[in-house]
Amino acid sequence: MAARYYYNKLYPGRFLNDLVAMDSHTFDRTKYDDIDDKLAYFHVNFRARTPSRENPSSIFFAELSGTEGPEKVRMCIQLDPGEMENCTFCTGILHPRDSFIGCMGPY
Ligand SMILES: [Zn+2]
Repeated sequence: MAARYYYNKLYPGRFLNDLVAMDSHTFDRTKYDDIDDKLAYFHVNFRARTPSRENPSSIFFAELSGTEGPEKVRMCIQLDPGEMENCTFCTGILHPRDSFIGCMGPY
């Protein structure tokens, strides 16, 4: 998986170490939201360490979109411990509290 590439697109010059892909989910919005959106969306979890060597590995969440595959990185962030599955589209994927597509709102 190209998670390092995704992350680096959003944060040029910052690199992640020891990436381990965890899980991902693909969905489109037309079935759920009444909007004309031809894009496919991807929610991805992966584990990585930030450049500081002392940091333990932590879980990251990325949201991507594209018509023929994941083309655009919409967000890619490190999750705090205790983040939840609060997404309309996914099960088994950890998400941040808000500001992603399918967010069911902060708890
Ligand atoms: Zn999701």
